[in-house]
Amino acid sequence: MEQHQLQKRVVVCGGGVIGVCTAYFLAKKGAAVTLVEKSSVACAASGKAGGFLALDWCDGGPIASLARTSFNLHRSLSEEFDGPRSYGYRPLTTLSLTLNESEVTPSGSKSSSLPSWVDGPARVPRTMGSRETTAQVHPQLFTCTLIAKAIENYGVEVVIGKLDRLEVEGGRVRSVVLEGGRVIESDAVVLSLGPWSSKLELLSSMFRVYSLKAHSIVLEPKEPDAITPHALFLTYHPSHGGPPMDPEVYPRPTGEVYLCGMSAVAEVPDDPEQITGNPESIRMLKKVAKTVSSHLAEGEAQVKAEQACFLPCTDDDVPIIGEIPGVKDCYVATGHSCWGILNGPATGAAMAELVIDGHSSIVDLKRFSPARFVGGGKG
Ligand SMILES: Cc1cc2nc3c(=O)[nH]c(=O)nc-3n(C[C@H](O)[C@H](O)[C@H](O)COP(=O)(O)OP(=O)(O)OC[C@H]3O[C@@H](n4cnc5c(N)ncnc54)[C@H](O)[C@@H]3O)c2cc1C
Repeated sequence: MEQHQLQKRVVVCGGGVIGVCTAYFLAKKGAAVTLVEKSSVACAASGKAGGFLALDWCDGGPIASLARTSFNLHRSLSEEFDGPRSYGYRPLTTLSLTLNESEVTPSGSKSSSLPSWVDGPARVPRTMGSRETTAQVHPQLFTCTLIAKAIENYGVEVVIGKLDRLEVEGGRVRSVVLEGGRVIESDAVVLSLGPWSSKLELLSSMFRVYSLKAHSIVLEPKEPDAITPHALFLTYHPSHGGPPMDPEVYPRPTGEVYLCGMSAVAEVPDDPEQITGNPESIRMLKKVAKTVSSHLAEGEAQVKAEQACFLPCTDDDVPIIGEIPGVKDCYVATGHSCWGILNGPATGAAMAELVIDGHSSIVDLKRFSPARFVGGGKG
């Protein structure tokens, strides 16, 4: 028999970090993979996220082993694909800081444990992560590098088209049908649609994936070399009062500084390209930037991007990864909330094992099964 006749044909729908990692690991394990993406690879949250990675921040919770496995997989992928140069992988020190917008820093009162570029009214920092336990990637470059490797090394095919529906026969998935009528036959299908999971009836009839809209800006400071590799998690008291906010600041090795925050539950629009930020939220992030550092104030830094994207969230805060009850060979991987970039590699590797071998050994997927939402919640 020809090699391609022996290969399992798998269609992965959704070209975010979860779909791309799944396509990569499936193809590496020998499957013939087609990735269907309606817009462009990494066009949504997977291209606009912070890209922060932490080894042990999920310890004690249901995703601890997924996160630890994935942090280590990120490190090995980076070694394999020259991550520092290809997609800005680097270890980081991570600090937690409190800033009061209306405070002025009298000269000479700055804490010596703050990085020199953090010259705003920040209180003595607490170290949350070291270079051994925290790291970062540029999420869009990471996702695009991985799909390029999947195409180049393992022949993954990328189809730009919108999944319209699945054809199911005798309780088993047979093909995916794209908008416009194109049919792609398959032995297995993986649905990794992020917040758009809620738009597919097969999934929305079983569980809820709701979306949280979050904002971000990307700045290019005039003096990038002044900015050291320190990620900052802020407790920020705005001058207008109200509850403190919790924006995050990620300097990148590309010379950019990324800031994000300002999130709220919102409905995801059909077209990922139509997602825009709310001007008030963007204005607030710029204010945060200049309060943190004079290097990030208007005039000292150019604004490269003002954007928003949607986190895919589940009702129990646990991702949904597994075979869909009642539809053989049809799998789902979504609901990664604020840790999708971290958990993409382990999700993809575990999903590849599940689809090809029938079970995953790299991560125990029982806790993630969609079966927990069906028939009284047994997983
Ligand atoms: C502001 C912000 C900062 C973040 N920072 C971090 C961070 O520092 N670290 C971290 O680990 N995580 C972070 N995250 C979370 C992370 O970005 C997400 O968990 C992750 O990107 C989700 O990936 P995904 O592949 O599930 O979804 P998405 O990236 O949303 O991808 C889904 C894809 O499916 C496609 N699609 C949808 N419907 C169809 C269809 N019918 N047919 C074909 N294709 C379709 C879409 O076009 C899209 O490309 C952040 C998120 C936000 C919003």
